[in-house]
Amino acid sequence: MALTSSYFDEGALIGVLTTQPLDRVLDYRAPEGGCHLGAFVEVPLGPRKVLGVVWGPGQGDYDISKVRSVIRVLDAAPMREELMSFLTRAGDYTLTPMPAMLRLATRAPGLGDPPSMRKIYRLGDCAPDRMTDARTRVLDVLREMGGLSLTLKEVAEAAGVTTSVVKGLVKQGAVREEDSPRDMPFPTLDPTYAGKDLTADQSTASATLRAAVATRSYGTTLLKGVTGSGKTEVYLEAVAECLSQGRQALVLLPEIALTAEFLTRVDARFGAKPAEWHSGVTITERRRVWKMTAQGGAQLVVGARSALFLPFRDLGLIVVDEEHDTSYKQEDGVLYNARDMAVLRASICGAQVILASATPSLESWANADAGKYTKLELTSRFGAAVMPDMRAIDMRNEQLPSSSWISPTLQRAVQQRLDNGEQALLFINRRGYAPVTICRACGHQIGCDHCDARMVEHRFLKRLVCHQCGETKPMPNTCPSCEAEDKLAAVGPGVERLAEEAQTLFPDARLAVLSSDMFGSARALKAEIETIASGGADLIIGTQLVAKGHNFPLLTLVGVIDADLGLQGSDLRAAERTFQLMRQVAGRAGRADKPGQALMQTYQPEHPVIRAILSGDEQDFWTAEAGERRAAGVPPYGRLAGIILSSTDVQEVFDLGNALARNDGPLRRVGAQVFGPAPAPIARVRGRHRVRLLVKAPKGTALQPALAEWIKPFRLKGELRMAIDIDPQSFY
Ligand code: ADP
Ligand code: ZN
Repeated sequence: MALTSSYFDEGALIGVLTTQPLDRVLDYRAPEGGCHLGAFVEVPLGPRKVLGVVWGPGQGDYDISKVRSVIRVLDAAPMREELMSFLTRAGDYTLTPMPAMLRLATRAPGLGDPPSMRKIYRLGDCAPDRMTDARTRVLDVLREMGGLSLTLKEVAEAAGVTTSVVKGLVKQGAVREEDSPRDMPFPTLDPTYAGKDLTADQSTASATLRAAVATRSYGTTLLKGVTGSGKTEVYLEAVAECLSQGRQALVLLPEIALTAEFLTRVDARFGAKPAEWHSGVTITERRRVWKMTAQGGAQLVVGARSALFLPFRDLGLIVVDEEHDTSYKQEDGVLYNARDMAVLRASICGAQVILASATPSLESWANADAGKYTKLELTSRFGAAVMPDMRAIDMRNEQLPSSSWISPTLQRAVQQRLDNGEQALLFINRRGYAPVTICRACGHQIGCDHCDARMVEHRFLKRLVCHQCGETKPMPNTCPSCEAEDKLAAVGPGVERLAEEAQTLFPDARLAVLSSDMFGSARALKAEIETIASGGADLIIGTQLVAKGHNFPLLTLVGVIDADLGLQGSDLRAAERTFQLMRQVAGRAGRADKPGQALMQTYQPEHPVIRAILSGDEQDFWTAEAGERRAAGVPPYGRLAGIILSSTDVQEVFDLGNALARNDGPLRRVGAQVFGPAPAPIARVRGRHRVRLLVKAPKGTALQPALAEWIKPFRLKGELRMAIDIDPQSFY
């Protein structure tokens, strides 16, 4: 986009991209007073008014007499060309229509509204007619606060009075009531506020990162370091450098539950808290963050992957913490990988990217190996902490009663920790009470009515839950198939059942169960995590949720109930995931001054992945894993795209799948191959039949344009849906 077309005079023909699902940019006329390229506007579309962005000059191919005018330019900073270009390229990469991309960038309701106001209170000029204790306290509070503005509730609370006391003083002119915009800038972060003394390793890494940020240009660094080595401390130094440059920084975390601890660390390092962006943030606050990133009133944003689409004024650094985490890949709606999109956006806006992890993805490992990313390593834990001693418990030699999962060896180890007043963690990557509910009379397994999936019993919720579609139903008393009474039995362990067993084995231990479905809110979960960290529990029973970066200083033993669980899948990343997960979980132990131990229950201790986990020889593991992927021509050494078709009509999905497979000319021309159609591993979800095709191509193939050309002739009518997943992470 040339600079010459960055402003359009009144009446000029302009192209407006809207958030409506139309396949083109629409022509309009610039409104009275003209408008800038990138301006957020309201335009008429049929009988409605919709949100749009001025995307460029109009195309002029629409009946000129019918072109309507922009209704108004919204009160928001125009979208910068950098973000327009990012949305376009991210859309091209993920084959996502532009209106859907624009929706990602405008997830702040009312973003064009004039700033909403609230009442604030300051010291007035007059003295009140008579003084009371309550009145004196109010005036004292306001005097102490100096220039700070407080709301009615804040003043009343701070003075310990009712709001009517404050209002009485307003009437007399002793207190001033003023209107102030809600969308206030965030408190200023001071990059020199309180840096820590870094270890030699940390200083080297920090200096390299600071120098990179100082170049004010693009680059990606893989910051690899064992859990507890100080990666966060080190990347906060890069954030400090970025803030000193006057540029903005973004830190992505894979899990909302991790934000609270992180905010506290930012506060300690920079003297104030950053802006927060995730699904747990209120709508008003989201709008404030959106506006302030655009105006430069937010120096640092901490958030979930969607924060990548905020309208930063001058983004200089993106940190992707726990970069290997699978939650960075959006699995519904727009299918994008936040890690890859972070690199794309940074390359467009001249920013640095830091990918931090103890167990990087094979993709990042390969990119670092190939010299595309700089690699920094922190090899030892901070302070006295050492990596835990890791051992297998060979389950073939353990005597276990039926329906129990904690082996005698593990039980003894846990008991020992409890006797020492230390914490232990038992890990199982399965939510709910039991994965299967079976009828002992007829063998029927209770399934979901809408999916080809078993329903999982959740005793905590007192319901059966489908983990595919979320459908729940009460646990029946009679078998739905043979109607036998009281014959339904739980089979296999989930986190709730493991907790039950643990409570029986260790009746005196205070138990804490951590599973994502057990907390109504992020706040409740945060409170539980804090309780655990401060020693309010002796034994923690948890799912994957505990693997993600929490600091439990008193924890010295981690027991993995089923280390083999992840190895069973046919997923190409099964080995990688198991390796990462086991090492992350083990990394929870011994983070402070007491050494930790990790014990893994396995039936196949000689499996290469289990052996690699135990030996801790990462280089060997990655080299072997890379070798296998290279030989198979799969990512990161080849390209994949998944096509998922679905419909309520099974014939219709297969017909489309077959037609796609037959007409694969555009793909063959670039050297790509189509596999399928085949029923998806979960062949029915929410009553829709699912069929998958897989496209495989050599590395370096320009796959997206070929895919676009391939699917173009196929019109999706009626119930048919098609989703394209570039670089798929899961294959369900
Ligand atoms: P990681 O992100 O690699 O897991 P953290 O940055 O969370 O590691 O560091 C682990 C713990 O050690 C934290 O409590 C952190 O504050 C502390 N720590 C790390 N480096 C230092 C340092 N140089 N000085 C003081 N404390 C440190
Ligand atoms: Zn279901």
